[in-house]
Parts: sequence; C-alpha cells; structure tokens
Amino acid sequence: MSDTLLNRRDLDFQLYEALDTESLCERERFAEHSRETFSAVIDTADRIAREQFAPHNSVADKEEPRFEDGKVTMRPEVKTAMDAYAEAGFIAGRYDYELGGMQLPETVMTACNGFFMAANPSTAGYPFLTTAAANVIRTFGSSEQQQQFLEPMLAGRFTGTMALTEPQAGSSLADLRTTATPTDEGHYLIKGAKIYISGGEHELSDNIVNLVLARIRGAPAGVKGISMFIVPKYRLDAEGNPGERNGVELAGLIHKLGYRGTTSTALSFGSDNECHGYLVGEPHEGLKYMFQMMNEARLGVGFGATAIGYRGYLHSLEYARDRRQGRHPSDKDPSSEPIAIIEHADVRRMLLAQKSWMEGAFALCMYGARLMDDSHTAPGEQQRHEARQMLDLLTPVIKAWPSEYGPRANDLAIQVYGGAGYTREYPVEQCWRDNRLNPIHEGTNGIQAMDLLGRKVWQGSGEAIQLLFGAIQRDLEAAEGEQCQQWAYSLSETLQQAGQVTQVLGKALGQESPEKALANASVYLRLFGHITVAWMWLRQANAATAGLTRDPEGDDAAFYRGKLQAAQYFFHWELPTVAQDLVILRNMDDTCFNMRDEWF
Ligand SMILES: Cc1cc2nc3c(=O)[nH]c(=O)nc-3n(C[C@H](O)[C@H](O)[C@H](O)COP(=O)(O)OP(=O)(O)OC[C@H]3O[C@@H](n4cnc5c(N)ncnc54)[C@H](O)[C@@H]3O)c2cc1C
Repeated sequence: MSDTLLNRRDLDFQLYEALDTESLCERERFAEHSRETFSAVIDTADRIAREQFAPHNSVADKEEPRFEDGKVTMRPEVKTAMDAYAEAGFIAGRYDYELGGMQLPETVMTACNGFFMAANPSTAGYPFLTTAAANVIRTFGSSEQQQQFLEPMLAGRFTGTMALTEPQAGSSLADLRTTATPTDEGHYLIKGAKIYISGGEHELSDNIVNLVLARIRGAPAGVKGISMFIVPKYRLDAEGNPGERNGVELAGLIHKLGYRGTTSTALSFGSDNECHGYLVGEPHEGLKYMFQMMNEARLGVGFGATAIGYRGYLHSLEYARDRRQGRHPSDKDPSSEPIAIIEHADVRRMLLAQKSWMEGAFALCMYGARLMDDSHTAPGEQQRHEARQMLDLLTPVIKAWPSEYGPRANDLAIQVYGGAGYTREYPVEQCWRDNRLNPIHEGTNGIQAMDLLGRKVWQGSGEAIQLLFGAIQRDLEAAEGEQCQQWAYSLSETLQQAGQVTQVLGKALGQESPEKALANASVYLRLFGHITVAWMWLRQANAATAGLTRDPEGDDAAFYRGKLQAAQYFFHWELPTVAQDLVILRNMDDTCFNMRDEWF
C-alpha cells in the first residue's frame, strides 16, 4: 500500500493554478516567503505526516486511551508525533516571527494540515485544538494571560481545549449552566460539568489550557450571559510553571465510533477542589470570543472531512488498479485473464464520484483559507471587509458540505474494496468511522443549515451573498471553450433559480412563517453547497483548460483531462440533483414541518 496522503499535483494545482498563492508573497507580511519556502514547508509537513502520524493511525484506533493508576495513558507514538509537529514549528506556523512563528499564509498552513489530517486525524486533533485556543488567547486575552499561556502553547508544552458542551446543552449553548463566582483575588471559582471535551485529560503536555464557557453569577439568561475563562489543569506558580493541581477533574473517558485516538472526556469543575478560572476579555462576551475559535474549527472540520475522504479515495483508487476480478461484458472467454476492477464502468463511477466530491471540497476549503488570508492581509480595507463577509457566509457551507460528502466518499471507498473494505485489515473502514464525526461536532450540520438560511444569507442586508454571486459571475464569464461554457450556462441557470428561491424564503422568514421557512434549511444548505462546489469545479475546469492549451501533450495532460472529466461528472451527475431541492424550497414543502410526534 502506498503512503500517499493527498495528491501533491492536485495540491499544487489548487495553490498555484486555481488560487495564485504566489501573489501573497507581494504582501508585506509574507514578503520573506516564496514558492520555494512554501514548497519546503509543505514537504516537511508531508514527510512528518507520513513518518510520524500515519504509522500509528490504525494502532491508536485499536488501542484507545485508557484511565490507569489515576492517569490517562495512550500509545507513546502520539507524543512523539506531537513533539515532531511542534518542533517543526507548525503550532506557531501562522504567527509573527517575534513570537517564534513562521508568518505563513493560512492557505499554506491549511495545505500542510491536510497531510496531518489525512495521516491521522486523532493525533492531529491535539495540536490543532492547541493552535485554535492559542489564537483566542492572542486575540482576546490580557497581556498577562498571553505571557503566561501563549508561549508554552505555541511551543507545544501546554495543549488547549475548547470546553463548551454540557450534558443538557449541546446545540443550544443558551442553556449552559456552569457557573463562575468572582473572588477577591481576581480569579473566579468555576463549578459545573462539561461533556465530550476533546483532549481534556492526558499526559502529552505539561499543562492543559481549557477555554471554558460559564455564566458569572447573576448574568443574564441565554447566550448574552456567557463568559469565557482560562481554566488550566495546573495553576501556574510565580515563575509561570505548572504548580498546584486545579479543581478540574476527569469524570470519565468517552468511547467512540471513530477518532478513537483523541481522548474524549467528561470533565467536572470544582466538585472536590477549588477550580480557578481566569476571565478572558469582558464579562458576557464569551460566546463572541468562542465563535472565533469555533469558526476556525468549523473550517478545520470541513477540511478534515475532505482530507479523510481524499485519503479513502486514493486508497480505493490504488486497490481498484490492483484487484483483478471478472471480464468485460463482451468477453465471453472464461480462460481469458481477469481484468483490474478499475476497468469496470461501475467501479469508475464510484471512483469518479469520490474524486468529484473530494477534489471539489478540497478546492472549496482552499478557497476558504485564501479568504482568511485576504480578510487579514489584502491590500485595501474594502478588500479585507469583502473577504470577511464572504468567509462568514461560506463558513457553514465549508463545514457542512465536505463533512456530508466526506463520509459518503468513504462509504464508496469501502464499496470499491468489496468484502475487503468491510474488514479491519484495510484502512477504509476506519476512514469512514473517523469521518462520521464531522457532520456532528462543531455544530451539527442541521445547526449549520439554520445558521446559513436564518442568519448568514441576510447579514449586512445581503451584502455577502451579492459578493458571492459577483465572484461566481466573474468565473462564469471567464469560461473558455464549448465544454466550460456549457457548464457555466448550467451553473448560471441554477444560480438564478436559487436566487429566486432565496427571495421566497426571505419573505417567509420576515413575515408569517419563519419556522416553516427554516424547516427545510438542510435542503437549502445542500443546494447552496452544490452550487458552491459546482463553482469550484468551473474554476478548476477553467484552470485545467488553460493548462491543456499551454501543453496539450505534456506530462500533465492526463492530470488536466482527469480534472475536466471530474468536472463533467459534477455538472452531469451532481448539479442536476438540486432540481428536487429547488421544488421543495420553492413550494416551502411542509411534509416534515407538519409531521406529528404521535404519527411516527
Ligand atoms: C467526538 C466528539 C468530540 C467533541 N469535541 C468537543 C469539544 O472538544 N468541545 C466541546 O465543547 N464539544 C465537543 N463535542 C460536542 C459536540 O459539539 C456536540 O455533540 C454537538 O454540538 C451536538 O450537541 P449534542 O450532542 O448535545 O446534540 P443535540 O444538541 O442534542 O442534537 C441532537 C440532534 O438534534 C438536532 N437539533 C438540536 N437542536 C436543534 C435545533 N434547534 N434545530 C434543529 N435541529 C436541532 C441536532 O442537529 C442533532 O441532529 C464533541 C462531540 C463529539 C461526539
């Protein structure tokens, strides 16, 4: 079995032909970088992912973390891999040089993280959560908090978590009950219980920095009364080193379908010992701060789903080239050699579906990463503002579409393997189990759908959606050649119909029936996602056409033709399926809305 995690040629295509990543080097922040430095760092990520992360992916899945002698233990390779990741500078990759970072663009860091996610999503979870928590402390923490926690987190000595979910409050964070009581010494006393907290207990780092959402006593009800606290496993001594144990205790480890290498914990705060928490920023602003972490995590979830889906696709492609079974329907000679299963059109259907979903999702995630770069470093304030608007609108789509289609791709990968795919001897069943988390965490896809239709589409009086339509329009106009122009036409037609449906839903939301309009939000998200991914395919097809025109018989010709064939699959097999979504939405179909509990 080959150890390829992502198709490097495809990554270069996304970076340099679809996105023009090199142009980022013209910006002051990235002035010391070049395509060569980007390639060097991506090579390092690919190597560490293959050498340190991939080899224990399966074994850490089989040997989950255990609670023994008062400690959580796990395979030693997890720590070795995390240390290699930190030593190579990846936790601080995006950060300023002064903070020990590499000042790399988000686009390049995302590309790097794709290798770790594909290699071993469970082990990658620890450093990813640490970077996300560090980003929150850097943005909203006091200078003292930054001094205490940021440097050890960026160096990998402290790890981070996000602790939102409680047994009675998952999707509905308004119902959080964990409390924070102020003390005269400046800290708060935290009391409550959290569940499903990833990385909440382990011995991988010197300290665990939990970012906890809690309610200060007397705070208003609902989301307006939520504050954020730094709650370390060990309180820091006068020198800033981990000292006395803080009152955050492991209440239990949670055993899961996939992502088994990441400890999932139930945590209890302040039940036996005092639990000190340090307020981040202003009281009652916690959810706003956490949203920064969650939005980043949502983009990460979409990309993780893509990376796992992509790896499953590559495994099944390799298997289909190797496995021999049956003959062409026209070959009636039983003594002829069996053919590789990739020769069967139905197997190619399953491979092409995976390719079109995952390379489409990959393009979408990389586009999102570029928007992140533009929102911070684009030359003008207006450009930055527009990038922020677009990113905000697309975040639920980038989280949900890849996480819906990633597991579907893995499901098809299992099918390509036949019986072998269902066994634990081959890697694709674990891909599916790992990937099945992605539609659930960081806000379920149902919640993403409500966010998109109920909020994001209307933000700034619809400015973001106008920007999106404008960006799609520019690529429609750039389509060259009969084939691309035909696809551009299909996309333009669908876009127009989606625009009309959006107006119908907008009217209903503002008037008599918001609940009825939101009842089919998941259908709207699918429609939106399919249009966005079709747009990504048009962009890729435009770039592939340009590549083929430059050199029709060169080494890359097969790669570009594969891109065009996958684009054709998406435009012929996938985009037309939204016709049914459009009917349901246009009619505001009330089948689910009107169903009654007692009728089930
Ligand atoms: C492996 C794993 C790791 C996790 N890691 C973390 C972590 O590190 N930190 C953390 O804080 N949390 C974490 N979570 C929690 C995760 O974010 C929640 O499980 C998720 O947000 C859903 O909440 P819930 O499980 O309570 O489901 P519920 O909220 O009970 O939802 C159940 C179902 O009802 C639907 N639903 C709920 N409300 C609505 C609504 N208003 N409208 C329509 N449909 C609705 C949901 O879409 C879902 O299908 C993790 C979970 C898992 C499984």
